[in-house]
Amino acid sequence: MKKKDQKSGGEIAAKKGKGFRRLKRGHFGVVVVTVVLIMTAVGICTALFAEFFLHYVVDARVLNEYHAIEFMGSLYEREEGERAYQMLDGEGRSYLITDADGQEIHSSGEITVSDVGGEYLPTSSDERIMIYMDEELPLVFASEGHMAIRLRDTIRWINETGGMFGLQRGEGKMELPFWICVSVRGGQQKLLGHAAFQLDMTDVALIASTAGTFVLMVVIALILLICSFFSGIVRQHRIAALFFMDEVTGGHNWMWFLTRGEQLLRKRRNASRHFAVLDVVFVKYRNFCVCHSIAEGEKLLREVDRVITQNIGKKELSAHYASANFAVLLSYYEEAQLKQRITELIGKLEKISDVHQFGFHVGIDSIAIETGKNGRPVRRKQVDLEVEYNNACAARATLDGRDDSGIAFFDEKLVEEQRWINIVTEKQQKALDNEEFEVYYQPKYDPQTDKLRGAEALIRWNSPEYGFKGPGTFIPIFEKNGFITEIDHYMVRHVARDQKAWLDAGLPCVPVSVNISRAHFIESDLAEQIRDMIDEAGTPHDLIEIELTESAFFDDKAALIRTITKLRNFGFTVSMDDFGSGYSSLNSLKDMPLDVLKLDAEFFRGDTKDDRAQIVVSEAIRLAKNLNMRTVAEGVEIREQAEFLAENGCDMIQGYIYAKPMKREDFEQAVKKGVGSKEHGEDGP
Ligand code: C2E
Ligand code: CA
Ligand code: CA
Repeated sequence: MKKKDQKSGGEIAAKKGKGFRRLKRGHFGVVVVTVVLIMTAVGICTALFAEFFLHYVVDARVLNEYHAIEFMGSLYEREEGERAYQMLDGEGRSYLITDADGQEIHSSGEITVSDVGGEYLPTSSDERIMIYMDEELPLVFASEGHMAIRLRDTIRWINETGGMFGLQRGEGKMELPFWICVSVRGGQQKLLGHAAFQLDMTDVALIASTAGTFVLMVVIALILLICSFFSGIVRQHRIAALFFMDEVTGGHNWMWFLTRGEQLLRKRRNASRHFAVLDVVFVKYRNFCVCHSIAEGEKLLREVDRVITQNIGKKELSAHYASANFAVLLSYYEEAQLKQRITELIGKLEKISDVHQFGFHVGIDSIAIETGKNGRPVRRKQVDLEVEYNNACAARATLDGRDDSGIAFFDEKLVEEQRWINIVTEKQQKALDNEEFEVYYQPKYDPQTDKLRGAEALIRWNSPEYGFKGPGTFIPIFEKNGFITEIDHYMVRHVARDQKAWLDAGLPCVPVSVNISRAHFIESDLAEQIRDMIDEAGTPHDLIEIELTESAFFDDKAALIRTITKLRNFGFTVSMDDFGSGYSSLNSLKDMPLDVLKLDAEFFRGDTKDDRAQIVVSEAIRLAKNLNMRTVAEGVEIREQAEFLAENGCDMIQGYIYAKPMKREDFEQAVKKGVGSKEHGEDGP
C-alpha cells in the first residue's frame, strides 16, 4: 500500500466526514430557525387580530349603548315633566338627570354612577362619548379617549372570575356595567343612563374559534416541523449508513473509522484508557484472487470483516480500509493482554476457510495517553487517527515477505527508516546525475600465492548532504523502488571505463566483478545491454565478471539460464554470489552454467575450528571444482581460515584478511603491487 494513496484517501475521508457533520448541523439549525419564525409570525398575527377584534367589539357595543342613551335623551327632550319620565322609564334602564351643576333633578332605578368619568372616542365613528364608572363594579372607564377595564391594580380586558363580568345566568351573556352621559335641554341638563358592556355567547364562540384556529395552526405547524425534523434525521441516518458503508464488505468503511474513532478518542471518559490502532492485512490476498476470482476474494474479505467485528467490544471499531487492509481500534490495559487478544483474533481469522490456510499480518500503533501539568490523564486533543494508522501500516510493512501470520509494533525507529527511504528515493536521480556514487574495489587474492587475481566493484554514496553511505543503507531501497537497474548500469559503465583507462595506461588489469540485481533479470536483453555498455567503453570482455545474487535464482529459471548462457557466450565470467546464504543453492548449481562460486561470508563467522563448518566449506569447494567452477571465499577475516581455504584449494579470498574495499587510486596501487598478505588489510570504509 502506498503511503501517498493512504494520505489522499484519508484526506478525502476527513473532508467528507466534516461535510457530513456540517450537513447535520445545518439541518437542525434550519428547523430551529423555521420554528422560531413561524411562532413569531403566528404570535404577531394573533396579537394584531385580537387588537382589531377587541376594538371592533368594544366600539360596536359601546356605540349601541350610546345610541340607546342618546335616544332616551331625545325622548326626554320631546316631552316635559312626568310624561317625559314615564317615557324614559319605559326604556327599562336606570337613569339620572342632573342640572348643569350636577344636582339631581330626577332618577329612576338603582343609581350607582360614580363621579369618575372620561371621554371615549370610538374608532369607527366621530362621536365623543362621556363614560362614567359604575360604583358597584367600577371597572369600565374611559381615559384620554380610550376605554379600559380595570381589575385590582392592573388593567386587563377580560376576567371571568374576578366578577368583572356579571354573568347573567340563563341569558348566556356577560355584562360589565358603566354609565353614559348625554347633554339634554341645550346643555342645561345631563342624562346619565346605565349601560353595560356585553359579550354574548356568539362573541365568546367567535373569540374561542378564532383563538382555536390559531392554536390549531400553531400545533399543525409544529407537528409538521417536528415530523420534518425527525424524517430529516432518519434520512440523514440512511445517508450516513450509505456514506459510511464499505462497498466490498457491507460493513463500515475508512471514513466511518476516522470519524467515529476520533470522536471516541477525544471523549473525556476515554482519556485514561489505552488504545491501539491496528492494520490487519490478509496476506497473499491478491494471489488468492488471481488463483480463484475477485468475487471469491471479496467473499473472504466479508468473512474477515465479520470475524473482526464479532471479536471487538462495543467501544472498539473496525473498518475495511482498502484492498486486503482492515483498520481496527482496540482498547487495552496492558500490552501483553493486547498481544494475547490479537493473537487470538489472528487464530480465528486463519480459520475463515476450511480449505485454505491464510496468513494475517498485524501492525500495531499504541495511542498515547495525554497528561496534564499534574501528570493526570487529560482529554486527548491532538488525535490524528490517520497518522496513527499510517504508523500501524509502517509496522505491518516490516512483516512483508513473510507468508505466515505475524504481529509488529510500531516504534520511532520505523519513522526514521521511512524518512530515510523518502530521502533516498527523492535524491537518487540527482545523486546519480551528479556522480555522487563512487566505485570502490575490493581485491581478491589467491590464498596459495597471495597474488591479486581480481576484485569486486562495490558502490558507495558520497553525499554532500548526508555524508558517506555504505550500500546497505540505500541498495535495499533501490531494489524495492526499481532504481537498482540504473545503479547497476552506472556501475557496469564506470567499471568498464576504469578498466579501459588502466589498460590504456599500461597498468596490469585483473577481472573485476559487478553486482547485477535480480530485478534486472526480467529484461530479456540484459546480456546485450551489458555487452553494449562494455563495448562502448572498449573494454575486453574477459576483464568483466557478473555477480548474480542467489535470490535471483528463484525467478524464472529458463530466462535466467538463457541470460547466463548469453553472457558467457559474449565472453563474460558469471558468478553466483552469496552461495550458502539461501536454501536451494545446490539445486541452482545443478542447472546453472556458472563459472564462479562465491562462498558466503556466513561460512566464516563463528568458531574457526568448528569441524562441521570445515567439512561443509571443503565439500563446497570440492563440489565447485567437480562442476568446473572456481571458488571465491568472501568475508574472510581470520588467518587460520585463509590457510584452511588455501589448503582446500579455494581459488580466491575476498576478505578483510587481505583488504577492505578501497578507492580507485588505492586499488591501482594494490594492483601495481600485485601481492598481498594475510594480515588485516588497510582500514577502508
Ligand atoms: P556483497 O555483494 O556480498 O559484497 C560483499 C560485501 O562484504 C561488501 O559489503 C564487502 O565490503 C563485505 N566484506 C568483504 N569482506 C569482508 C570481511 O572480511 N568482513 C566483513 N565484515 N565484510 C566483508 P558492502 O560493500 O557493504 O556491500 C554490501 C552489499 O551491497 C553487497 O554484498 C551487495 O549485495 C550490495 N552491493 C554493493 N555494491 C553494489 C552494486 O554496485 N550493485 C548492487 N546491485 N549491489 C551492490
Ligand atoms: Ca557481490
Ligand atoms: Ca557476496
